[in-house]
Amino acid sequence: MSHSCPVCAYPKLKEPPRSASGGGSYEICPSCGFQFGVDDDDKGITFSKWRNAWLKRGALWSSLGQKAPADWNGKAQAASRPKKTAAKAKKAK
Ligand SMILES: [Zn+2]
Repeated sequence: MSHSCPVCAYPKLKEPPRSASGGGSYEICPSCGFQFGVDDDDKGITFSKWRNAWLKRGALWSSLGQKAPADWNGKAQAASRPKKTAAKAKKAK
């Protein structure tokens, strides 16, 4: 089973993203390069802060050891991220 990255919406994380209460993975997202449990817990970087910085750099594939999917588009992927507040405020058509 794969999991979606809460930072960049990459849909194929191997482990569930780390929860606020601790536990979960120390996986590094191959797409945005966020390391769960380290960049958030140890460095105090929020998902949105990392996401914005990553988008600013051009939303490039981060992993050196793992190839990006052939049709991969970082910006489109990040834009596909479900927006909680927008979804609540507006009803789907
Ligand atoms: Zn990611």
